Amino acid sequence: MSTLTHGLSWIDLQFQGRSRAIATAVVHDAGGVALVDPGPSSCLPVLTAGLEQRGIRMADVRELLLTHIHLDHAGAAGTIVRAHPHIRVFVHAKGAAHMADPAKLLASATRLYGDDMDRLWGRFEPVPSANLTVLEGGERIEAAGRSFDVAYTPGHASHHVSYFDRSSGVAFVGDTAGVCVDGGWVLPPTPPPDIDLDVWRGSVERIEAWSPQTLFLTHFAQAPSVRPHLRALLDNLERTAGWVRESLAEEGTDDERAARFAARLRRELRLHMSEAQLESYPVAAPFEQLWLGLARYWRKRAG
Ligand SMILES: [Zn+2]
Repeated sequence: MSTLTHGLSWIDLQFQGRSRAIATAVVHDAGGVALVDPGPSSCLPVLTAGLEQRGIRMADVRELLLTHIHLDHAGAAGTIVRAHPHIRVFVHAKGAAHMADPAKLLASATRLYGDDMDRLWGRFEPVPSANLTVLEGGERIEAAGRSFDVAYTPGHASHHVSYFDRSSGVAFVGDTAGVCVDGGWVLPPTPPPDIDLDVWRGSVERIEAWSPQTLFLTHFAQAPSVRPHLRALLDNLERTAGWVRESLAEEGTDDERAARFAARLRRELRLHMSEAQLESYPVAAPFEQLWLGLARYWRKRAG
């Protein structure tokens, strides 16, 4: 477990045996313990071991704060709650029904991951409705004895929220502020099905309005700065969306377009970072899926 600031830490979930792909934030205070995005259940042994290093048992956790319900963020929630039914799970209204009954969510994920579902994510168990606290954005919630402001931050996902701990100045922004490994290129994660550039820009403004001192990214941990990071995110979102838009007019199949996009993105990333640093990016955000999400966005607009 690595320390962010007093009472705030994070654990590298070593997703697929790779470091710096998925991180869970841990709020641990006199008031209790809360986790922001517990990750997929395939990483539960690593999460549990990470907590135990600090003398924290999963039974000590009181709240799970979900930024959104994608499997890399929320997959383990149901399994954790089944073992510890006292735990409260915070989730946006548009995601809540899918946590209680994940059939549609899993069908949608299976379209992307096929036979790799189990290997990547492990089990996804439902969260009983009684354990869910449904958010709209704009509320203030209590977790681990602290207050967190909640903002609705769609763009990456239609049901994405971010959490702000005013006492530390840390904003937990899930995937809204992109993927950034060790100060590398800020990559906007744009998988299907919800990508929306306009609402994403509005979400970044909402995060900036908090004037956070620190951004905590699920992929990966502390961003090196706030405003330059968010500017880079929006610039790069514009760029990758532009590449995908151009690609739609090119010859070939979607698979070929996605492969060319992935190659172009890899070339761009290579300009800015080492090969070792780069390797965490496609694990956190598979490049062909980024093309799929943006292609869907453009085609929906054209239609
Ligand atoms: Zn993610």
